[in-house]
Amino acid sequence: MSDLKYIRNFCIIAHIDHGKSTLADRFLEMTHSVATRDFKDQLLDNMDLERERGITIKSHPVLMRYEAKDGHTYRLNLIDTPGHVDFSYEVSRSLAACEGALLLIDATQGVQAQTVANINLAMRQNLVIIPVINKIDLPASDLEMCYEQMEEVLALPHGDALLASAKDGTGVEDILEAVVRLIPPPVVPENEESIKALIYDSKYDTFRGVINYVRVVSGEISRGTQLRFCNTGLTSEVKEVGVFTPKMLAIDKLTAGNVGYVIPNLKSPDDAKIGDTITGARMPCKQALAGFREMQPMVYSGIYPIDTNDYENLRQSLSKLRLNDSALYFQAETSAALGFGFRCGFLGLLHMEIIMERLRREYDMDIIATYPSVVYHVYLTDGQMKKVDNPLQLPDPSLIDHIEEPMVDASIMMPTSEIGTVMNLIMEKRGVVKETHNADRNHVIITGSVPLHEIIIDFHDKLKTLTRGYGSLDYQPSGYQRAPMVRLEMMVNGEPIDAFATIVHRDHAEARGRFIAERLKDVIPKHLFKIAIQAAVGGKVVARATVGQMRKDVTAKCYGGDITRKRKLLEKQKEGKKKMKQIGSVNIPQDAFIEVLKSKND
Ligand code: GDP
Ligand code: MG
Repeated sequence: MSDLKYIRNFCIIAHIDHGKSTLADRFLEMTHSVATRDFKDQLLDNMDLERERGITIKSHPVLMRYEAKDGHTYRLNLIDTPGHVDFSYEVSRSLAACEGALLLIDATQGVQAQTVANINLAMRQNLVIIPVINKIDLPASDLEMCYEQMEEVLALPHGDALLASAKDGTGVEDILEAVVRLIPPPVVPENEESIKALIYDSKYDTFRGVINYVRVVSGEISRGTQLRFCNTGLTSEVKEVGVFTPKMLAIDKLTAGNVGYVIPNLKSPDDAKIGDTITGARMPCKQALAGFREMQPMVYSGIYPIDTNDYENLRQSLSKLRLNDSALYFQAETSAALGFGFRCGFLGLLHMEIIMERLRREYDMDIIATYPSVVYHVYLTDGQMKKVDNPLQLPDPSLIDHIEEPMVDASIMMPTSEIGTVMNLIMEKRGVVKETHNADRNHVIITGSVPLHEIIIDFHDKLKTLTRGYGSLDYQPSGYQRAPMVRLEMMVNGEPIDAFATIVHRDHAEARGRFIAERLKDVIPKHLFKIAIQAAVGGKVVARATVGQMRKDVTAKCYGGDITRKRKLLEKQKEGKKKMKQIGSVNIPQDAFIEVLKSKND
């Protein structure tokens, strides 16, 4: 393998839509890494969903050969990273596999919340950062704004910025030249004789099993090497090593400083953890690479098939998704209202949306999700602490001493004119503003502490609406804080409907209760008796609604006496009954629950 001097490992970091994938496409073209006939836009975004929503979910590495102006040919390893906060651990591992990062800024949008978050991650890994202002072909581009923000927010001299248009190719060659000139080649630590490689991502292939995406730090790995995984303690023989061109290409060996893949002999994807260190089984390294963390779900929700016959299909679909997404957690659960389903855990709301979308699209599943919940720390009167992510598992109030909820440090970048509105939003969402900082003449960054629960419910949507799309948000967990959380229960004629139980802040219980009660009133069919719909906290009713009674003769409206029409109606009623769920003495069509779960909260 070539001299380390001619290797560059780098990634592109950017806020969503600033042009990362488009720029990667230009690189692939310029380095002739992909035959023209194979080319389609945003080549590295190979999941349908990624292409459609313009986001990158999985990292896609690619090796390119670039003939630089200095006459040498360089091996450029480009690692595309997911930009969203939900995946910041994965981003941090990808960054750890690089020596440098291109920081892409959209010339019309300027610096955004995620630009700041990502650059902070990159600086923590001591990466060389090359700022690039992209989309300069657009008439709305505002270089002055970008320069000012670079200095004010990112503390980067504006003279360092390269100007480019990933769309028409302007400046793209200069970027590759800068990569070669400014980003240092990989350094192999001296005195390290054992194998050390970072798993920065991994994939599961039905035929080949686990595929680890690695950056080799020291030593070399080839077919037959006996490996040891430092954090799981497992050992395995290597079946194949290779590089991404971007297709997988087997090679003889992966040497220190390089990026590529390793196929170990592991059966379960759970055995290959992102961030783990691979070493040699014969001469293991003394210390694993730093930064490993188990991925923990932050948001939980119940996912149910709309047709109960789909339960087994749903289980299989979730299992398949999990193969390539070890951050997804699921476990069987049942609900009186919704039947058999799964309690699922996600890294965040985007992660949850992605999984739901993929279940619907790729697996053709018709599903519904219950109100999402974060993980609460419930301190009991007997001194124990219980982690609760499911309202049904919240202990009786008499057993609870106090509850703590997860908080996040949020930073919001927005036009200065919206500062009042956004500060109000933060307070309405039970947050506190910590600091405001001018990004340039027209933009400001607010940082504050906000409950994660509020963030996942609708904070982002509201921020976007209030700032007409100009506000951007980034956040990271910042520990737990005491809060008066309670279980809100919905009841029909005194019987609780489990699917609607939620953990909410005491002060929000009434509004949320009224919201669901009103929706339920509209969808629960009339019975021969009145139906009381109540929202209650600890047995105390906080909101109510009533469904009036009716006569059961459904054929009454067919005054024409047309017998076939009457018969059809009766058939239909029978059909509907099958999907009825009985809550106490009340029959409620499952559709009714689904309607309410679908409706957006206040
Ligand atoms: P990513 O989310 O950072 O990967 O961004 P994409 O590469 O998917 O680009 C987002 C959108 O911006 C797409 O519609 C691109 O066509 C467009 N885009 C990217 N670079 C440029 C550019 O230099 N000029 C213009 N006019 N549009 C661009
Ligand atoms: Mg992209």
